[in-house]
Amino acid sequence: MSSAVLVLSGPSGAGKSTIINAAADSIGDFYFSVSTTTRTPREGEVEGKDYHFVTKEQFEEGIVNGDFLEYATVHGNYYGTSLLPVKEALEKGKLVIFDIDIQGHRLVRDALGSKVVSAFITPPTLTELEVRLKARESDSDEVISKRVSNAKIEIEALNEYDFLIVNNSIEEAKNAFISIANAARHRMSQEENKEFIKQWVSQ
Ligand code: 5GP
Repeated sequence: MSSAVLVLSGPSGAGKSTIINAAADSIGDFYFSVSTTTRTPREGEVEGKDYHFVTKEQFEEGIVNGDFLEYATVHGNYYGTSLLPVKEALEKGKLVIFDIDIQGHRLVRDALGSKVVSAFITPPTLTELEVRLKARESDSDEVISKRVSNAKIEIEALNEYDFLIVNNSIEEAKNAFISIANAARHRMSQEENKEFIKQWVSQ
């Protein structure tokens, strides 16, 4: 099976990880790109599963060493995608799923071009986002208001995405996500098209 790249963006609190977990058994063999961050772990977050939690110095060493496919500062912390595991997963023909912000989406598009399929996931309204962030009880009021004002900026990048998933109900959002993941598997890059045509005419 051909490898595929699916970028998911959307405000924290949109339900991205819940949707991915709910769909995990229905989208075939995939690799979820575990990002590296300098933010402090939330309660219940597991090192190596949710994120690789590092210091600012360690992150900056990674930048210098060229370890990241992309990285960005989000809400005052570094977040980045390690290049090596993504490369390995793509070589194995896996669907690689990224949960990254709008800056990361632009950088991944620059790096991987026509192979990328992307979806923006959001709660139905800004007010609902705030309600969900408060209900999560994992962030201070200050952090929540930073995330809400950042969400207002992020939504303006909606046109850059292939698909929109409005997370009204988990079941509907999960089904939309499964369709998009399947579409991503059929997305061909220009290089793959060239190779396919070469093979096709020669047989
Ligand atoms: P959170 O702190 O809520 O886990 O994530 C905050 C934001 O950072 C989210 O919008 C998430 O998509 C984004 N993010 C997480 N990992 C990465 C990454 O590796 N690169 C970029 N550019 N953004 C990331």
